[in-house]
Amino acid sequence: MPRARPPAPSLTRAGDAPLTRLSGVGQAVAAKLAARGILTLQDLWLLLPLRYEDRTRLTDIAQLRNGEPAQVEGRVEAVERGFRYRPMLKVAISDESRGSVVMRFFHFRTAQVAQFAVGARVRAYGTPKPGQHGWEMVHPSYRVITEQEAGVLGDALDPVYPAVEGIGPVTLRRLIGQALDLLPPEAELELLPADWLEGQQLPSLRQALLDMHRPAPDGDLAALAAGRHPAQQRLAMEELLAHHLSLRRQRIALQRHKAPALAGQGVQVERLLAALPFALTGAQQRVFAQVRQDLARPSPMLRLVQGDVGSGKTVVAALAAMLAVEQGKQAALAAPTELLAEQHLNNLRGWLEPLGIRIAWLAGKVTGKARERVMAEVASGHAQVVVGTHALMQEAVVFHDLALAIVDEQHRFGVHQRLALRDKGAAAGSVPHQLVMTATPIPRTLAMAAYADLDVSAIDELPPGRTPVQTIVLSAERRPELVERIRIACAEGRQAYWVCTLIDESDEVIATAAQATFEALSAQLPGLRVGLVHGRMKAAEKQAAMRAFKQGETDLLVATTVIEVGVDVPNASLMIIENAERLGLAQLHQLRGRVGRGSAASSCVLMYQAPLSQMARQRLETMRQTSDGFVIAEKDLELRGPGELLGTRQTGLASFRVADLARDAALLPRVQRLAETLLAQSPAVADQVVARWIGSAVRYAAA
Ligand code: ADP
Ligand code: MG
Repeated sequence: MPRARPPAPSLTRAGDAPLTRLSGVGQAVAAKLAARGILTLQDLWLLLPLRYEDRTRLTDIAQLRNGEPAQVEGRVEAVERGFRYRPMLKVAISDESRGSVVMRFFHFRTAQVAQFAVGARVRAYGTPKPGQHGWEMVHPSYRVITEQEAGVLGDALDPVYPAVEGIGPVTLRRLIGQALDLLPPEAELELLPADWLEGQQLPSLRQALLDMHRPAPDGDLAALAAGRHPAQQRLAMEELLAHHLSLRRQRIALQRHKAPALAGQGVQVERLLAALPFALTGAQQRVFAQVRQDLARPSPMLRLVQGDVGSGKTVVAALAAMLAVEQGKQAALAAPTELLAEQHLNNLRGWLEPLGIRIAWLAGKVTGKARERVMAEVASGHAQVVVGTHALMQEAVVFHDLALAIVDEQHRFGVHQRLALRDKGAAAGSVPHQLVMTATPIPRTLAMAAYADLDVSAIDELPPGRTPVQTIVLSAERRPELVERIRIACAEGRQAYWVCTLIDESDEVIATAAQATFEALSAQLPGLRVGLVHGRMKAAEKQAAMRAFKQGETDLLVATTVIEVGVDVPNASLMIIENAERLGLAQLHQLRGRVGRGSAASSCVLMYQAPLSQMARQRLETMRQTSDGFVIAEKDLELRGPGELLGTRQTGLASFRVADLARDAALLPRVQRLAETLLAQSPAVADQVVARWIGSAVRYAAA
């Protein structure tokens, strides 16, 4: 159990000291560090080495091994300076082991050349590779040494820090060294309970920092490289704890508000269920029951519903809205694009209007008199359910009595927008319930870290009757066969997507490529009506192209990844993704979810440009083997790490300094338990942990 400890303001103060405290740091150096986000002593403490160089030993040149970094010492045998193609400097050194190695430089100054007199003694650290004449080290770090220095070595591993523009590695190392000399004593710095650390066999913060920056020569370099060293784990643990606590705190803050308890009989729910053309899946029933329980309470719900594309989240949202309607209150449903919002509108109209429930539609293109009328209906409470886009969140929109705010694909909105919608229902001391939905599942291992501030439900079952999408992986050489396949599918009355992808290119380049593909396919498929949609088109043009496809007026839609979210065209049963090897799993999964939405057997062709990297091969293979979004998310985490996961972009999870969720996910359960203990027993310490790692940059400003 954590010991009570005195408040330790000095610790943050010591860490918060500006860098100008250090000798050699004036305004200019401070500005360069600041450009990298390094502002305080603590920022330097936490700027951890990328790797270490072992200069405590010399390796005989004759004993060098391919690709293994080593330090060697020898005399200059020969110097060669080349100009033929580009400047080049080659310096051969040899030692008593009768081995020789060539140091090769592509950038160098004339003064450097002069240092290398034949016979001069040089010590170099680099990675040997076989060259034209024996071993070569390209751009080793080196020093010309005196005879007295021969064989005199350091006694610590040299940390290699991330480059900071404008500051040389030697200077940076010196500054970090100075900062470490100013580390406060252990008792002042430590926030985690001593007995807990002991139980976990983890070092104190001070010790961990020193171990990271100044590992002993016999330190476990392999553990450090793998991120398994206790010092790393200790730092990662505290950082994860800080993030977890910060989310938990926001949740606690939200819980202090009241919300309207929507605890009616469920009359409207029953009417809707009776009118639906299908029965809910078990997963939908379970998730709706969870939502219903939350809504019945007089405190605000903040629940995320994760469900794969096509799992049927919309109807769950509609049922939740019925609980608000039954109490004479309003529900709002916002979607990130007009197309998606319109899809929701059509669904809700189909389900709810026959029940006499009044729906209002508010999007950017609703203007003038029509807009005024809608705004009046929303403000008077005449509109019971309001569907729309960002337009819903605008200041001028006033609700009569908003009890439930539903946000679809919430990561496509800013947090501020979600909060803006929530605030529309905020009355004295009360806020509306919030239901957020996403089709991008996040791995279970991460959910805890990502969503400590909300409750999560998963619709992990698809409605019956869907034929699974057959996924085929094909080399781009077989493109002509695919064109033929499209022709056949469309001749049978089906529709197809052709997705052009060019990762890391500008919108403009991608648009040009899509345009070219559009023209080529139009020429190759003269009988078909081909549409085009890309990010460079005006919103209205995009909508028009999508609508035409949805209404079956075009057979083939050439598109960029702008189509990825939410679009529902059940008649589309074939998708071809070009350069699939360049996309991440989450994105491939989202794209593939556009087909297989009807009853026809669907297929998705992942076309790649050979040769495939090992990673790309694994990704495509995963896609071929499974269509379960949760499995794919786990695999994505394993292959790429969380920073790139589509679903985590929203969470700010990628911005850890020390922790790496892919590597440190196993620490999360322990982090969670420690968080519970601290919140219960030493909330002041919990606050300090948050302040140390996150400061005031809280993720959800006042969520
Ligand atoms: P998503 O979770 O991707 O938003 P939707 O809510 O758009 O999925 O649902 C996809 C389709 O499945 C819609 O056409 C919807 O009407 C239909 N659907 C939803 N639930 C069921 C169910 N239980 N049985 C059959 N069809 C369903
Ligand atoms: Mg949806």
